[in-house]
Amino acid sequence: MITVDEAQAAVWGRVPTLGAEAVVLESALSRILRANVLADRDLPPFDRAAMDGFAVRAEDAGEAGTRLRVAGEIRAGVSSDRPVGAGEAMRIMTGAPVPEGANSVVQVERTRIESASSGDPEVLLEIPVTSGQNIVPRGSEAKAGSVLLREGVRIGAAHLAVLASVGQIEPLVSRRPRVAVIVTGDEVVNPRTPPNAAQIRNANGPALLAAIHEAGGVTSDFGIVSDDPRKTCDAIARALDENHDAIVLSGGVSAGDFDFVETALGELGVTLHVTAVRVKPGAPFVFGTKGTTLVFGLPGNPVSAQVTFELFARPALLKMQSALAFRRPMLEATLDGPLANRSNRRNYLPVRVTRGEDGLYAQPIRTQGSGDIVAHSVANALAVLEPDRTGAAAGERIPVYPLSSFLEV
Ligand code: AMP
Ligand code: MG
Repeated sequence: MITVDEAQAAVWGRVPTLGAEAVVLESALSRILRANVLADRDLPPFDRAAMDGFAVRAEDAGEAGTRLRVAGEIRAGVSSDRPVGAGEAMRIMTGAPVPEGANSVVQVERTRIESASSGDPEVLLEIPVTSGQNIVPRGSEAKAGSVLLREGVRIGAAHLAVLASVGQIEPLVSRRPRVAVIVTGDEVVNPRTPPNAAQIRNANGPALLAAIHEAGGVTSDFGIVSDDPRKTCDAIARALDENHDAIVLSGGVSAGDFDFVETALGELGVTLHVTAVRVKPGAPFVFGTKGTTLVFGLPGNPVSAQVTFELFARPALLKMQSALAFRRPMLEATLDGPLANRSNRRNYLPVRVTRGEDGLYAQPIRTQGSGDIVAHSVANALAVLEPDRTGAAAGERIPVYPLSSFLEV
């Protein structure tokens, strides 16, 4: 049996890079950028008023109590057609370009309008003015031509704001990996079908389809295939023929009399690179390739399936799309209670991580093991105990693997 690190290396080394495509901005969320995004002009593109108030020349208003003639008004979206002259102020709105001549904006709350005996009204400035106040200078956020977003970034809401701001209405992103999901098991029934006493509902199908979507994939759901060598072979053959980038199988990879996945893969010319891993849960995990198609054979126990998907398939799908952050970062936490590793494999155990005063804490979750979907659903991270660590006591620091990008606590 090889280690998790060796198995991951065996997978990473065989991940092809998918092609790129342009998508409309509105559909770019969660996609991976395939080209650097540059500023098409300075940001901000003009000296921008950061407050509602009056654009003035600081040299006219060094002392509190200065009165200036109000020579006009500049709304957001409009440039002034004349400069601010000596002894003048212009009413200005947040987001409007500061007019020529002015070098400061006095916020409206610090001013009073005084009606003049004749002509334009005057504004009284209650505070002394220094140059540059409440102005965001042109190009201070980014210069035209500078790199704002790097290739390999996974596009989130904040990145959409940047893309929109520089007019990238069709960003170049990776195409989505096409992934087939095949669930095996005579005992497994569709959740819409009432199970008989010996049957169980298909938990892995929905979980894996969702996890693939989260990793940016598009799925073909092959449904449930019974434990029959011919049917198993046919389903995998069809998935291979249909040009999927990856095939994710659930169940049938253990050493039981009705586990046919490994044999079927061999018969179909899939080269197996991983056939067992020193991991708990998930030891029977299988990985193979045929051409550029990656084949992941996950154990059927639901927690094993979800953990091996996390460790091997999710990073592979993201790496295929050229994601820079294709692996989740490992964190460290202080244990709130004891944990035991009763295997000589690397053990991933469900914990709930919360933030304490001096860092992260991990509360162990009682689990019956690799079938305990409920315990796994309560976890937001997995504590990692190496094979030589038979246990860890409360108060000890342990590595934890987060199950989402951010720990939702
Ligand atoms: P297997 O890997 O096929 O030997 O299955 C291991 C265990 O996981 C057995 O207890 C199965 O009943 C269970 N199992 C297999 N597939 C699923 C599934 N899709 N949903 C829920 N449990 C499953
Ligand atoms: Mg089975």
